[in-house]
Amino acid sequence: MTIRMKITFIVAGSMAAILAINNSFLNASRYLALSGDSTNELTFLIMPISILLMCILIFYVVGIYTDRLSLIRKSFKLIQENQIVSFSIKTKDEIGEMMSEIEEVSTRLYEKETEMRTYQEEKLLLANTDTLTGLPNRDNYLARLEKENKANNGSLVVSVVVKDILKINALKGTAISNQILLEITKRILSFQTQPNEAGRMSTHHFSLYFDLKQETDWQRLEEALRFYLDQVAAPFIIEGESFFTKVQFGIAFRQPNEDVTIQNLVHLADLAVMEESGSIGHNLYLSHSLLQDEHTHKQQLEFALRKSIDDETFEVVYQPIVSLNDSHMSLETLVRWNYKDEWVSPSIFIPILEEIGLIERLTKQVMDAIVIDWHHWKNVMPDLSHISLNISAKIFEHGEGEILEYMVKVLKENELEPTCICLEITENVLLDAHTLYFIEHSMKLGFLIAIDDFGTGYSSMSYIANYPFDVLKIDREFVLQLETNEKKREVAQAIVQLAQKLGIRVVAEGVETVEQLKILSEMGTDAIQGYYFSKPQFLNEWNPLLLEEKRRIHAIGQ
Ligand code: C2E
Ligand code: CA
Ligand code: CA
Repeated sequence: MTIRMKITFIVAGSMAAILAINNSFLNASRYLALSGDSTNELTFLIMPISILLMCILIFYVVGIYTDRLSLIRKSFKLIQENQIVSFSIKTKDEIGEMMSEIEEVSTRLYEKETEMRTYQEEKLLLANTDTLTGLPNRDNYLARLEKENKANNGSLVVSVVVKDILKINALKGTAISNQILLEITKRILSFQTQPNEAGRMSTHHFSLYFDLKQETDWQRLEEALRFYLDQVAAPFIIEGESFFTKVQFGIAFRQPNEDVTIQNLVHLADLAVMEESGSIGHNLYLSHSLLQDEHTHKQQLEFALRKSIDDETFEVVYQPIVSLNDSHMSLETLVRWNYKDEWVSPSIFIPILEEIGLIERLTKQVMDAIVIDWHHWKNVMPDLSHISLNISAKIFEHGEGEILEYMVKVLKENELEPTCICLEITENVLLDAHTLYFIEHSMKLGFLIAIDDFGTGYSSMSYIANYPFDVLKIDREFVLQLETNEKKREVAQAIVQLAQKLGIRVVAEGVETVEQLKILSEMGTDAIQGYYFSKPQFLNEWNPLLLEEKRRIHAIGQ
């Protein structure tokens, strides 16, 4: 029954009752007057009393409604505080219905808020942790060391490189190589003198930090380390098969209050393994700088990098990005540096180039390679839509420089349009004003923009909604755990849905297995990049038949 009907009934009923009572008392008083009874005066009191009672009844009923309205008002406050609202009494009128709706809305809002909070926590955790080993990732590890550094104790940093892991990965698959990496992590952490901090720096590279409380007796330290390192490098037995991996260790240490920054120490330990410098036994290398001049070794490396920039000896490999819904293809360029007959990982030399201000020159050289190779690629890959290029945030830290001007110029000279080029910018620099300025400028010139490593940074979703980015690349960390971690799958699904709504193409990076491909394809991912389709390749190594075969299998599998 509606409130209007209820109040009408109550008022009409009350009026009728008053009239009826009034009437019967009038009749009674007339009768008593005729019969000469003296109680007749009482009847004059009955009328106002009955009116008073009716008024009380009406006020009482209206009071019930106003009480409910104030309950509703209070409920809005609870909703603002993200609490679930529950009313103990409800009627079947409009107010009762409204109360039920409020309860429903508050529950839904609470669930959404909880979902968002879980997503944010998940994102933060992903941004700080290596998903395979659970160790802090590079940035997180370095940030933690910064804190340790305040104590100014003596410190030891050990850089651990598992040399053959990529080979094992190629021959035996990711499941085995991942188990080896997990086993190494376990061994690292179960050492009797546990490292104070341990981090996974890249696929096959770990870094350990030990706090040295007193002056170091180098002899004893070396003995302890050798024992430790033997344990870490012992053969791995996985699924009944033995794996002998070459594990190398680079060591750098400083005495208490010695003037070496913690970043430098990590860097020196990395360089010691890379260079195999100052060998003090099998697989154990001591940073040069600790043997002689602290800076000599770094200077040597910087010198070699400068020379490679001047001689333009960096090389470029290309990795295909395969569209799942049509025949389109694109390529990502990844730079390679050969130093002393070994390919050095970009994660080692790119930060040095950034530090010594040569990253812009490298980017120009990569751009030169792209325009030279473009027509060749178009011949072997007629559906090629664009080639992607990684842009370091250091380039536009002090203004966007002339890199865009340079790119437009070389494209024009080769009769190409900026739409042939996609600039990949990592998510974690997205909130920076210089980055946003660079992005706007690039977009106006016609370049495509991809947000790289999406899901690992802290950028808010609203940034993605505010800029018409062309591509969003889901980071490999997400893809790695799609099969085993339901939460990660849900987050990846949410990212894909958001991008679809915004009309942004989604590319998943680091796809290695057909299972990952299936999950991503079902989610609606537009394109796939990863070892499943192809590793990064030199142009002259390219065999289009291999990729075609994989695409055919995928088309049949759908
Ligand atoms: P990125 O841009 O995220 O590049 C993707 C990385 O993932 C590449 O590593 C690629 O080889 C690797 N990758 C691709 N598919 C798979 C897969 O299925 N499994 C695995 N395990 N890895 C896969 P790479 O070549 O070592 O490059 C590392 C990073 O170095 C790049 O990360 C990029 O940030 C940087 N980089 C590379 N070339 C350049 C460059 O020319 N300029 C700048 N500024 N940075 C570059
Ligand atoms: Ca990239
Ligand atoms: Ca990436």
